[in-house]
Amino acid sequence: MTKDLTADSIQAIAGGLTYRTEAFIGGQFVGSASGEVFATENPATGQRLAQIAACDQEDVDRAVASARAAFESGVWASQSPSDRKATLLKFADLIEGNATELAVLDALEAGKPITDCLEIDIPETIGCIRWHAEAVDKLYDQVSPTGPEHLGLIVREPIGVVGAVVPWNFPALMAVWKLGPALASGNSVLLKPAEQTSLSALRLAELAAEAGLPDGVLNVVPGFGETAGAAIGRHMDVDMVAFTGSTEVGRYFLQYAAESNLKRITLECGGKSPQVVMADVADLDSVAENAVNAAFWNMGENCSCGSRLIVHRDVRDALLEKIVAQTRAWTVGDPLDPATKIGSMIERPHMEKVLSHIRAGQSEGAKVVLGGNQTCQDSGGYFVEATIFDDVNNDMSIAREEIFGPVLSTITFDDVDDAIRIANDTSYGLAASLYTDNVHTAHRVARQLKAGNVSVNCYSEGDMSTPFGGYKESGFGGRDNGIHAHDQYTETKTIWMQLR
Ligand code: NAD
Repeated sequence: MTKDLTADSIQAIAGGLTYRTEAFIGGQFVGSASGEVFATENPATGQRLAQIAACDQEDVDRAVASARAAFESGVWASQSPSDRKATLLKFADLIEGNATELAVLDALEAGKPITDCLEIDIPETIGCIRWHAEAVDKLYDQVSPTGPEHLGLIVREPIGVVGAVVPWNFPALMAVWKLGPALASGNSVLLKPAEQTSLSALRLAELAAEAGLPDGVLNVVPGFGETAGAAIGRHMDVDMVAFTGSTEVGRYFLQYAAESNLKRITLECGGKSPQVVMADVADLDSVAENAVNAAFWNMGENCSCGSRLIVHRDVRDALLEKIVAQTRAWTVGDPLDPATKIGSMIERPHMEKVLSHIRAGQSEGAKVVLGGNQTCQDSGGYFVEATIFDDVNNDMSIAREEIFGPVLSTITFDDVDDAIRIANDTSYGLAASLYTDNVHTAHRVARQLKAGNVSVNCYSEGDMSTPFGGYKESGFGGRDNGIHAHDQYTETKTIWMQLR
């Protein structure tokens, strides 16, 4: 996708874009009821991009009413699965037809490298919608093992009105991880993008309408968490909230549900993922390549970021040397330049938070072996150097807190049991990577790591066919992706019939 694009041609595309800035409710773009707006900026320049409708309780009420009416009318929920599939496949085709625009929107608003947006985020966005569309007319319900006098049907039904509250780090992709299975299952959805990144979500809603999704089935209410997000969480007529974001905010949604209608809540939250490297690995170049990608891809603003490198003393120095050398080749700079590997942090306060974590690591005695500072100040944006620490122990704050920035902490171990103990000594449990050339160690340790996703001899979250989500404080109530995701968005009903 990127081969014909240059920094200049992408700049030209960015300069020619028209932004959708109003809420999308009942099939129409509309201003917020209060008339309030908020600014969205390009974090790579500090410049304002647009003013977005700031939705609050009243807008959420309107969107819920529209979603409820669409759901109860059966205009989508009662369509045959194959008809829903056809519409969603059209939606995916339209995303593909507008892929460059969506990629540029995400690069502009989130400071993400355009090459990643073009080659990973948007292709996976398209793939996600297609996968769930293709799955939905291949799912069978069940008949229970009764005697001849009864018929026990176990059927799945859409849950109703689903609120999807998502983060800014993969704006389009995190939205469709919810929309794909929720819409395929027949629900009506209310999507609240993160306040930093509303533009691709609003464009996706427009494309879904163009594909033939009936009015009211997908609504987008941009706005702040404390207003629009909380209104969705507390709403008495929202049946479920699917949330991706921080563990701190995830806890609020459990509280909102408890204080309102006991709506179903699923949480995909933060992580502090270990990368465990055993002494038996021969190909340290490959480990280094994966470790750098795990730590610095998406600027480390990635829930499954492999931020703790837990490495055997015998290979530590050799591996660290390779990791540092490879990281030097990761260009930091303008997200719209296809050569850029590390873009900007999402906003100034977040950059400052990342820098303060780095200072804390230094003051606790860890050694910076690369980076450690703000960079590219001339841009007006919020860039942080890829930063590598050595001499970290697992009690230091940089080993315990989710930094959500380009910071890798190296922790050394001497025996395997110690490595497993350190890897699991965290309140999180989203992902883990393991590097070993011994098949017995691979199987045994993969089972011992307490994480929802363990990748062996690679850094990976699997693909659209495999469930993704966390143990411990990384997740709650379900999994994204794969056929397991459909379970979240459906109710199970028993129909028990007396036969004569
Ligand atoms: P965040 O928790 O600050 O915000 C997420 C969403 O919640 C946003 O839409 C925000 O507006 C909303 N929100 C914020 N405060 C709220 C409140 N009081 N009530 C209701 N809604 C509220 O997270 P973020 O900074 O956007 O994203 C980063 C976090 O997301 C990291 O912790 C990261 O690990 C996590 N994440 C997890 C996954 C996963 O699949 N597990 C994927 C991506 C990101």
